[in-house]
Amino acid sequence: MSELTNLGVKAIRDGVADGSFTAREVAEAFNTAVAEAADLNAFIVTTPDHALAAADAADAKRTRGEDLGIMGGVPIGMKDLFATKGVQTTAASHILEGFTPEYESTVSQKLWDAGAGMLGKLNLDQFAMGSSNETSYFGNVNSPWRKEGSNAAMSPGGSSGGSSSAVAARIAPAATGTDTGGSIRQPAAFTGICGIKPTYGRCSRWGVVAFASSLDQAGPMARSVEDCAIMLEAMAGFDPKDATSLQMDVPAWEAGLSADLKGKKIGIPKEYRMEGTDEEILKSWEQGKEWLRDAGATIVDVSLPHTKYALPAYYIVAPAEASSNLARYDGVRYGLRDLPDGAGLQDMYAATRAAGFGDEVKRRILIGTYVLSAGFYDAYYTQAQKIRTLVSQDFEKAFAQCDAILAPTTPTASFPLGSLNEDPLTMYLNDVFAVPASLAGLPAMSVPATVNSDGLPLGLQIVGKPFDEQGVLNAGLAIQQRAGFAAQPEKWW
Ligand code: GLN
Repeated sequence: MSELTNLGVKAIRDGVADGSFTAREVAEAFNTAVAEAADLNAFIVTTPDHALAAADAADAKRTRGEDLGIMGGVPIGMKDLFATKGVQTTAASHILEGFTPEYESTVSQKLWDAGAGMLGKLNLDQFAMGSSNETSYFGNVNSPWRKEGSNAAMSPGGSSGGSSSAVAARIAPAATGTDTGGSIRQPAAFTGICGIKPTYGRCSRWGVVAFASSLDQAGPMARSVEDCAIMLEAMAGFDPKDATSLQMDVPAWEAGLSADLKGKKIGIPKEYRMEGTDEEILKSWEQGKEWLRDAGATIVDVSLPHTKYALPAYYIVAPAEASSNLARYDGVRYGLRDLPDGAGLQDMYAATRAAGFGDEVKRRILIGTYVLSAGFYDAYYTQAQKIRTLVSQDFEKAFAQCDAILAPTTPTASFPLGSLNEDPLTMYLNDVFAVPASLAGLPAMSVPATVNSDGLPLGLQIVGKPFDEQGVLNAGLAIQQRAGFAAQPEKWW
């Protein structure tokens, strides 16, 4: 592994700007690392030429003495949920195989405008539905991590598992992720990296394949809090093409970073001490409190009484929206078309959808259609929306007493691939700590804390007030500085 691939976003950007190395050297090093890491199955397609072209543009700007942009010369991985002009975009589904968008998503365009280049399109759970990366049509992603003394293939988390695997394996310095109910934070926690889901509306959803539109948010995944701050600044901002986009200026998050938490109150929600949570996770939560206290914060107990209803409500609201969003895949407009001999239009819809969607996607469409159907709408969908409001109110009340909340990101560390597939409910439980912040639209981040007795990473989650990404990043920085997380997966790929 070349030394350049050990660098993160800030180190690459600053090194290119001051001439320590060229952006082309960086892009070539990462392109090589990507090509050599096929065993991770992190990428669906690679785009080495895109990375090189952006690098050459950055190098040329430097020669001319021009501003390189806040991501200048940094090659990144792009989750294959973002539409990229001229580059296949699949959402890891057979139904979109071969779909090459005519347009670029707002978030990816902003990253290119900020000077970044693309190493390739990252694998994910199909339509971002999953927590292990096993629902991809293109095969599961492998985590670079393994349990000490074991060769069993481990899950990189999901749905942004290609992103987490690539960043942890150092074949990309950073990657985009999306988070509907934990898909940035859970994979970040499983692989020992950072990831932040900003406030709902911060990043435009335009050109991001829709899963559950009232929850979907894009965000960065990288190996440090600083790198996340930089990349989020590039990704965020008002977009007239997304009606739910926030009409707010993007704060200077990188410049605002400070690990001094004097005067800040950090809330510890008692309802997050759930049965089934791993002892080592609870221990790392205790450790996290100490770290934040050491950074000057006061620790206070808070209550989020509706926490236990959040997950069931999410698994009604998200499939309901998904069943509506996924109606557009009909074999007419995008990707796959299955037209049996002599078939009519209805037969074509049915055949295309039967062949194109994976089992988990079909399960969500069925659940969503059911909870929205006339006889059950009030019993399920309306109830779930009421719970969503109560969950938001819980947070509002808690934030009257504290500035941010500290909790575990996940109830367990990563698990072996194949071990949770049998029972969707056990798989859904992965997101029990992540989903409440999603329902409330709040900014939330996972930061690596430590490794467990198996040598696997554990993450801590910080949830902030609406629009207070800065507070979340700063508490994350305080943890990062004290955790000194330096563990790396041993290279087997
Ligand atoms: N794992 C959750 C689900 O399957 C969350 C997915 C996501 O955030 N995209 O719905």
